[in-house]
Amino acid sequence: MVKADRVCKNFGALKVLKGVSLEIDAGQVLCLVGPSGSGKSTFLRCINHLEQVNAGRLYVDGEIVGYSERGGKLYELHPRAAAKQRRDIGMVFQHFNLFPHRTALENIIEAPIQVKRLNKKKALERGRDLLEQVGLSEKADAYPAQLSGGQQQRVAIARALAMDPKLMLFDEPTSALDPELVGEVLTVMKDLAAGGMTMVVVTHEMGFAREVADQLVFMDAGVVVESGNPRELLANPQHDRTKLFLSKLL
Ligand code: ATP
Ligand code: MG
Repeated sequence: MVKADRVCKNFGALKVLKGVSLEIDAGQVLCLVGPSGSGKSTFLRCINHLEQVNAGRLYVDGEIVGYSERGGKLYELHPRAAAKQRRDIGMVFQHFNLFPHRTALENIIEAPIQVKRLNKKKALERGRDLLEQVGLSEKADAYPAQLSGGQQQRVAIARALAMDPKLMLFDEPTSALDPELVGEVLTVMKDLAAGGMTMVVVTHEMGFAREVADQLVFMDAGVVVESGNPRELLANPQHDRTKLFLSKLL
C-alpha cells in the first residue's frame, strides 16, 4: 500500500530525510518513532504530498505520489490530479484543527459534500455512522469548544474517515491530550486497525505500538535506524541510538 524508496527531503541546506525506505502492506499498521526533529512529520507530509521529495520515490497504492510516469520519465501531476490522490489519504494531527463554528456532524460532512459532491442526506447518514463508530453519537450537535480534547480528536478521526481513505496518517494524535483522554483515542485507532485500515502512526505510545503495530520503525536524523516486529524491537533493540531513545521513553 505504501512504499518509500530512498526518499530524500531537504529544506534549503538542511537535509531532513536522507534516504528513507520502508514498505507497508494493505491492512498493516506501522508505528514511527524517533527523537524530535528526526523527520517523522516531514515523512508523513511527503506521503500525502504536502511536501515534495527531492529524491527517491514514494508510492501509495501503486501510484507514485505527486507524479505520473511515462516512458521511464516522471511528470509532475496536475494540481487537480494531485488533489485527487491526496483525497484518498486521511490525516490526523496533534491539534485537531476542527472548524470551530461547525458542529461535530457538520465538521464531518463538510468535505464529502464539498469535495466528493455527496448529497447532503447521504453525507449526514454516513456522518452519524462515523460518530457512532468513534463513540460520539450523542455529540453530533456539539461545537468543538463544547467537547473535550479526546472527543475533538475522535471527531477529527471521523472527519478523515468520511472521505473513505485507503490510508490513514496519524501525527502524534494523542500528544496534546491530558493523560486520561489518551485511551479513548487509542481505542478508536485500535478498532480502526482491527477493521483492516492501513495506518502510519507517529506516536510515543509504546503500549499501542506493541499491541497494534505490525511494524515499528525507529528513525533518527533522517534515516531509518532499525525496524521490525514491535515486540522484538522493544525487547531487544539492536542499535545504541534506539536503546538510548527507548530508555528515555519507557
Ligand atoms: P517532532 O518529534 O518534534 O515532531 P519530527 O521528527 O516530526 O519532530 P520534523 O517536523 O519532520 O521532525 O522536522 C525535521 C526537521 O526539519 C527539523 O529540523 C525541522 O526544523 C525541519 N523542518 C520541518 N519543516 C520545515 C520547513 N517547512 N522548512 C524548514 N525546515 C523545516
Ligand atoms: Mg513531528
